[in-house]
Amino acid sequence: MVSRYDKATVEGWNEATKLVRSGVNRSGFDETSEALYLSSGYVYSSAAEAEAAFAGENDHYIYSRYANPTVAMFEQRLAAIEGAEACRGVASGMAAVFAALGSYIGCGDRLVSSRALFGSCHVIATEILPRFGAETELVDGRSLDAWEKALSKGAKAVFLESPSNPTLEIIDIEAVSRLAHDAGALVFIDNVFASPVLQRPLELGADVVIYSATKHIDGQGRTLGGAVLGSQEFIDESVMPMLRHTGPSLSPFNAWVLVKGMETLRLRVDAMSRNAHQLAQQLEDTLGVGHVSYPFLESHPQFELAQKQMSAGGTVLTMDLGSKERAFEVVDKFKIIDISNNIGDSKTLATHPATTTHRRLGPEARAEVGIGPGMVRLSVGLEDVDDLFDDISQALA
Ligand SMILES: *Cc1c(COP(=O)(O)O)cnc(C)c1O
Repeated sequence: MVSRYDKATVEGWNEATKLVRSGVNRSGFDETSEALYLSSGYVYSSAAEAEAAFAGENDHYIYSRYANPTVAMFEQRLAAIEGAEACRGVASGMAAVFAALGSYIGCGDRLVSSRALFGSCHVIATEILPRFGAETELVDGRSLDAWEKALSKGAKAVFLESPSNPTLEIIDIEAVSRLAHDAGALVFIDNVFASPVLQRPLELGADVVIYSATKHIDGQGRTLGGAVLGSQEFIDESVMPMLRHTGPSLSPFNAWVLVKGMETLRLRVDAMSRNAHQLAQQLEDTLGVGHVSYPFLESHPQFELAQKQMSAGGTVLTMDLGSKERAFEVVDKFKIIDISNNIGDSKTLATHPATTTHRRLGPEARAEVGIGPGMVRLSVGLEDVDDLFDDISQALA
């Protein structure tokens, strides 16, 4: 779809300008803020125009399951930030993961995936795709030998999350992409934890980037949303037919919230990361080395790799408090921090992964990826960091 009032040429723009202006497509009313096109359908000036639209011979919108002008603004803005040829917005992060992998992998194909995955991603990789006849092999994503061994049997796709949820494992995206490409596989990265402003997987060699826009892109706890980014060919030939006919469309209203969220994305994520880094350091000083995990702490086993591929450590840290009882006791005493399972929000949120987000994995799979009963995940928000540290300290006391 071509923009009629498109001043949003991104060429030569730096990130801050793209975050505010990319994708802007003004209506005839010349509004300042992006317009919300809450419309399911579109009208044609003649039957012939409708015929041409369905034949793909003009750029007329047809139906909001296929495309919508507000959703397109979100897609163009995110594609500009990511440096991707194309982007499709969808209803949620999980719709994005399934549209990306499910549109590409079929019966008889092999998927090689890191083991440390968000709970629902684990279910797609190990339960849903195998029901359609695909084979999934899970590997320890930190071990290049493990990737090489699994990829030597051939693969159609590689899927990974870095940093992983909630164990904050870092995977060498550049090295894994090289191994995957040698094996003829496309590389899919769930980049939710890093967000579009702290890590650029396409620049590191990956092929497809997936977001839950629910997290940092909205970042204010309002809407669900997701996106798949990649080459024009991958989006047009693989993702689009799947979306068009299965229908996990992003609501124009949610797309509008996300477009406005992107204007402050860099400011929020930088400030939240600074808070998270400071808190991680202070908590490590209090609880001892080995009890706090954060990618930019020197004690993180992949500190150097994290520094190489991320521009900051991210907004999430974990504490190990030893047991479920102790974790519950501490979390229940928080006065500022809320108990909630979202991440990337401007409010600091605490989760006990073993009993919530990663409950479905069962104790063995949890132990395999290192989610202990005493682990508490903190998604650090925009509050004053001293207030947050005081809140955690009084809860620990
Ligand atoms: C939250 C999350 C998802 C799923 O996103 P939804 O918008 O909740 O569907 C996928 N991957 C990771 C890493 C997540 O944190």
